[in-house]
Amino acid sequence: MNKFIRFSFILILMVSLFVPSFQVEAKTVRDLKNELQKLLDENNNLNQQIKYTESQINSARSNITRLNSEIEKIQNEYAQTEKEITALNVKISEKDIEAKNLVSFLQMTNSNNFYYEYIAGAESMTDFIYRLTVTDQLLEHNKKVTVEMNDMISQNNLKKQQLTTAEKTSKSKVSELNSNLAVLGSKKSDLYEFNMSVEEEIKESQKILKMYTDAGCKDNDDISTCARLPLDTSFWRPMETGWVSSYYGWRFHPIYKENRFHDGIDLVGNRQIYSVAAGKVAAIGYNHSTMGNYIYIHHLVNNKYYTSVYLHLKSGSINVRVGDVVSKNTVLATMGSTGASTGTHLHLSIATGRRGIDYTTYSTFVSRTVDPKTLINFPSGTGSSNSWLSRTRKY
Ligand SMILES: [Zn+2]
Repeated sequence: MNKFIRFSFILILMVSLFVPSFQVEAKTVRDLKNELQKLLDENNNLNQQIKYTESQINSARSNITRLNSEIEKIQNEYAQTEKEITALNVKISEKDIEAKNLVSFLQMTNSNNFYYEYIAGAESMTDFIYRLTVTDQLLEHNKKVTVEMNDMISQNNLKKQQLTTAEKTSKSKVSELNSNLAVLGSKKSDLYEFNMSVEEEIKESQKILKMYTDAGCKDNDDISTCARLPLDTSFWRPMETGWVSSYYGWRFHPIYKENRFHDGIDLVGNRQIYSVAAGKVAAIGYNHSTMGNYIYIHHLVNNKYYTSVYLHLKSGSINVRVGDVVSKNTVLATMGSTGASTGTHLHLSIATGRRGIDYTTYSTFVSRTVDPKTLINFPSGTGSSNSWLSRTRKY
């Protein structure tokens, strides 16, 4: 016995060790909401990054514009400096010619011939000396001016060098900015594309979330079970006993006094109303002028979705809540005469698909309605003489 207990304990321990690895953590509606929020945050973050990249692109562009105008200025200055150098060179060559002339004059004055001629025909020695002195001074002056101008030329050449360096620097900055711009541009388009896919995910995520919340799933509900409908294979009549007072199809409406399409079947009899098939309560509401108190239920019968709706229910009699799983034996409410009704009866409509999940509008619901007679066995004819006496007996 002791051995058996020990063995059992070990067996339980072994099983319990293996079980957790098969358990998948339940995903709730709140998890879906959190995932959606993460996507929205990511979207927001990406939009900010795109904006920031755009501002970087704009600043790079304005820097390029500024540098290009600086380069233009440098080039103008360079051209100006070259002009100055040319002008200085012209002046230097002029001074050169002047100097040459003066030198040739001096050579002339220095020649014996000149002295001879001058002495021979000298009129004024003072004049001669004066000329000689002035020429000397002029030569000196020319030399000085030429040196100064050469100095200016070399200064200008230096300036040219500096301008060339500055231009080079600016141009390399521009090319650097241009390559930055290319990088930023591709970064922006990458961010944009990524954000597009995030936005697609957001749309998808919102659709899925809406599907679960429309199906009545609450924040803490496990999505693998909350939206699943119980399966069924047939529809039953919604009351234990009763009869048909008005069939599905075109008819003369008792209140509106005109031909109207009757999108369901009107039933009278036992007032306790059951669900026509297993399913889940999709919506409960009240509409004063038409439906009165009503209940929508989603079904999955023979692998096909349906929505049944029960109208004119007695006020305060509704026995279920949205999201409740119901069976054929669940009492939904009591028959009444709320909304557009001339007397106590149940209006039952059945449509294909799940209203609120597969489609939303009432007009779509109406267009999808089927004749309840094709799904539920009702005795033919109307009135109490054509009553059924149980929910399942075939007629
Ligand atoms: Zn009706």
